[in-house]
Amino acid sequence: MASTHDQPRGDGTRVVNAGISFGDNGSPLGPNPVFAAPYVLRGEPSGPYQYGRLTNPTWSAWEAALAELEGGPVVAFSSGLAAVTAVLSAVLRPGDLLLIADDCYYATRRFATGYLSEIGVRIRTALTGPDIARRVDGARLVWVESPSNPRLDVCDLTELAASCHASGALLAVDNTTATPLAQQPLLLGADFSVTSDTKATCGHSDLVLGHVACRTDELAERVRTWRNTTGAIPGPFETWLAHRSLATLDLRLARQAENARVLADFLRRDPRVDAVRHPWLPDDPAYPIATRQMRRGIGLLSFTLPDAAAAETFLDALRIVTVATSFGGVHSTAERRARWGGDDVPAGFIRFSCGCEDPADLLADVDQALARLNG
Ligand SMILES: *Cc1c(COP(=O)(O)O)cnc(C)c1O
Repeated sequence: MASTHDQPRGDGTRVVNAGISFGDNGSPLGPNPVFAAPYVLRGEPSGPYQYGRLTNPTWSAWEAALAELEGGPVVAFSSGLAAVTAVLSAVLRPGDLLLIADDCYYATRRFATGYLSEIGVRIRTALTGPDIARRVDGARLVWVESPSNPRLDVCDLTELAASCHASGALLAVDNTTATPLAQQPLLLGADFSVTSDTKATCGHSDLVLGHVACRTDELAERVRTWRNTTGAIPGPFETWLAHRSLATLDLRLARQAENARVLADFLRRDPRVDAVRHPWLPDDPAYPIATRQMRRGIGLLSFTLPDAAAAETFLDALRIVTVATSFGGVHSTAERRARWGGDDVPAGFIRFSCGCEDPADLLADVDQALARLNG
């Protein structure tokens, strides 16, 4: 199903055509879902499609699309966390050392410090940033997020991959906040690029999916075997919707990133708001590394209001922006992250996900909601 593009193309062209090969007269243009548990299979088992837990043509098209964007073979999963735990479980054995970022996605840390350490995997932690590259010694696998969720810190992935490979460790990068369009961890040297497609990749707040891209076919085979053996497979219908959503990723990301830049710049100059973070703000600590290793900007930002009550007042007053967890959708959303516990952030910390509304409307909404803090 992979299309054959031999000249460099822009991001819009890449996502519109990813994983699609146009057929004969009368065939539909886009991918279409194939629903199958068993496939017709006479005689000795052969051919790509035998049983629905192992392979499906709709997955093949979706995986081919993502592989074009990632630069390596892809295995699709039923959720981001299924993709995360597939890599951790397929690589680590009792006695191995996992070096994991202390401020990565809380459910990833919970799997490591809960389940993995219970079965004898040793855990070492470090904060996202230059500290990680100095602590890889003896690790079997290094797990980072860049930019991290929710604090939007980055680490130099090229440098980290070099340290990992010099000491025999594999590097896995959770690329969820960036998506494969904004950052290609495999091309920066990572062994695994893991994404929760629930967020901006699918972008319509209606799917839960994930995928793993791998540097080699051998690593991909290990991850695929994990999926076959555990059954963490995506549904064909969801996979088809995801592939359909991918066509607009360039457009969505462009508007989201523009909104985030405009809003971050406005908030940074606003005395009511503290600690504005956005990797595409020139004075953000993440800016030099983010702009060097990422291909383009993203729609996430964060800031801190004085306390939990001020944050809740602000969120209640928003009219266009919806209060919800998660991020990356076409609708702008925001939440007080500390309401969940689990992340080391202040009580008034707001994670803000810019959608595809007009920048002026978004700014006006945030401005009027902030005005409530004084009265
Ligand atoms: C949401 C998220 C996940 C988990 O993905 P699900 O699709 O919710 O299972 C993993 N990593 C990061 C960085 C996330 O934001």
